[in-house]
Amino acid sequence: MATKASLTLTDSVLELSGVGPKVEEKLNRVGIMTIQDCLFHLPLRYQDKTRLSLIGTLQAGQEALVEGTIEITQIKFGRRRSLLCLINDGTGTLMLRFFHFSRAQQQRLEKGSVLRCYGQIRRGSQTLEIAHPEYRVIDPDNSPAIEKQLTAIYPLTEGLQQRTLQKLTSQALDVLTSHKDKPAELLPDELLTTFDLPDLVYALSYVHRPPPEADLQLLKVRQHQTQQRLSFEELLSQHLSLQRVRQKTQALQATPMKRQGQLREKFMKQLDFTLTRAQEKVLGEIEQDLQKDMPMLRLLQGDVGSGKTVVSALAALRVLQSDCQVALMAPTELLAEQHFQTFSQWFKDLDVEILLITGKASKSERDSNLNILNNKQRVIAIGTHALFQKDIMFSNLGLIIIDEQHRFGVHQRLSLLDKGIAEDYLPHQLIMTATPIPRTLAMTVYADLDISIIDAPPPNRQDINTVVISNDRRDEISTRIKTACDDGRQVYWVCTLIEESEVLQCQTATDTYQQLSEKLGDINVGLIHGRMKNKEKETIMASFKDNKTQLLVATTVIEVGVDVPNASLMIIENAERLGLFQLHQLRGRVGRGNVKSDCVLMYQAPLGDLARSRLKILRNTNDGFEIAEKDLQLRGPGELTGTRQTGLPDLRIADILRDAKLLANVQRAAKMLQQKYPQHIDLLIKRWLGKELDYSNV
Ligand code: ADP
Ligand code: MG
Repeated sequence: MATKASLTLTDSVLELSGVGPKVEEKLNRVGIMTIQDCLFHLPLRYQDKTRLSLIGTLQAGQEALVEGTIEITQIKFGRRRSLLCLINDGTGTLMLRFFHFSRAQQQRLEKGSVLRCYGQIRRGSQTLEIAHPEYRVIDPDNSPAIEKQLTAIYPLTEGLQQRTLQKLTSQALDVLTSHKDKPAELLPDELLTTFDLPDLVYALSYVHRPPPEADLQLLKVRQHQTQQRLSFEELLSQHLSLQRVRQKTQALQATPMKRQGQLREKFMKQLDFTLTRAQEKVLGEIEQDLQKDMPMLRLLQGDVGSGKTVVSALAALRVLQSDCQVALMAPTELLAEQHFQTFSQWFKDLDVEILLITGKASKSERDSNLNILNNKQRVIAIGTHALFQKDIMFSNLGLIIIDEQHRFGVHQRLSLLDKGIAEDYLPHQLIMTATPIPRTLAMTVYADLDISIIDAPPPNRQDINTVVISNDRRDEISTRIKTACDDGRQVYWVCTLIEESEVLQCQTATDTYQQLSEKLGDINVGLIHGRMKNKEKETIMASFKDNKTQLLVATTVIEVGVDVPNASLMIIENAERLGLFQLHQLRGRVGRGNVKSDCVLMYQAPLGDLARSRLKILRNTNDGFEIAEKDLQLRGPGELTGTRQTGLPDLRIADILRDAKLLANVQRAAKMLQQKYPQHIDLLIKRWLGKELDYSNV
């Protein structure tokens, strides 16, 4: 099956033989649109079918290719009917076991035939065995050649066969290597030499078809230099594209917010605390930006509970003072509602209109909101992403605040840029996140943003005392809950589930709620979960805020932003299932006032080594940055836990945490390209970000 000579890497996969509309649709589902995408769809792992093993040397656990003569084939009846086939190669015997088989298959496995088979060896009752091996009957006098390269096993989607992907990558590799006039390599030689990177054709050929002597261990953890080279290129492209966004936004206009006014004084008077020095500092940085006629694009980073909200309110104030409107976007309705309450309180005597805009508003609410947005200047509109629906029109939007950005992800953040744009004008943007990431990482992930950090918590905060206990000691926790409530404090109990199933999660929370209500008769227990109506959630949160409910059983809906400073005890069930970032966020719901707070992390035994170390980190520190650093170290090169829930970009090949050590060079490489090879930049961005980059063509 020869590949057409004229194909190029950017042609559609439809051009490859064996791909029709049906297969194409399946390929699209795993992100494969072009021939090049096939090549960036890297193997998950490899099989070594390049050497035959002697049966006598096999060990349980290994995967092996063996040949042997069939001694006996028979059906075994028992708990589960199975077809057994015993083969022998002179050094030992091996049992092949099939739970699904046909009569024809059984007949073909005749005594005396020679089989070549591959699979994972496991210990059987009598001999070593393989369940459902790949096999073929061979002619021992004329046996087919064995593989010359390791076999790549690709990530699949339903209906897509391993064989299909293997054939397609072979064709794509042909296109890659045959193409002389339009070279695939986008990195200049100087860059490859400086950073000691293998060239693209070599790297791709290697990762898809490694030679027999390749280091499988290294490949498995994606640390082989060829894989790292691909990660490097992807990270570089990501970095360059964000820088491009930055350059383009900086070329746009924004309204300079020059007026100081008396609003601020009034605001500060009714606030029951004063700003910390850390808050003053970041506010200063923000205000400097707001005075410019170039759009601010600033990230406000601060650990959970560090007091970002009030800083954003003061930034909003400055904008209102200049008669512009403000939009504040939160990731959950719960948090939007809370901000609405807080801001309504803070701005109550300042003649500012605070709106809550959610997806489920009635027609009349909607009309009234639109009317206000049309006719009033000093408005803060608070909501979820519903804020940026088509029919919501701001009349003079001066500032967009995005809270808890990590819940939105990079692409959503960037696509928002689009929304605010009118002609060559862009509102200022303040992006808030609690994701504590080390500086080198931040410089790549947020290469389009300026960064301000609140580096110290408000005064009188006490460290949260964290304990880790097994689920079967839940009874002891009742005492803790009673003590906290007797002292006038409040408690969260968070139920988690491994699956993303909201229904199950809510069910678990409901069950727990019932059990706890029965057990803790004299304590008012509340329940909150994602499947409740908004009004219901509001009532429950209000009751908790007013300390009418003492114990709140919740799903992870309360993970971000929720602020009830009187709560001092956090209990998290099945804590081993959550990531460190997520646990740190959840725990951050307590320790927000000046009382001593506790957090109980419950786990389901037995606890694996990694889970144990992770929970230990949380027990030992409350510092988000320290947790992030430790997480990076622990993650080690092998872990592919990914970047979910962290707001870090989801990349195809690279993992920004796993590959963090590449970032310093990525930044140097970006500079080199900008200075000496600017013409390569577009090509790289196009290759790795493709269409998604449209939003930055502002
Ligand atoms: P986060 O950074 O997690 O969004 P919040 O803005 O919700 O944190 O603030 C956490 C709590 O700290 C809130 O109850 C807030 O009112 C309080 N707070 C913020 N700044 C100060 C301060 N300077 N002094 C005392 N309390 C503060
Ligand atoms: Mg917050």
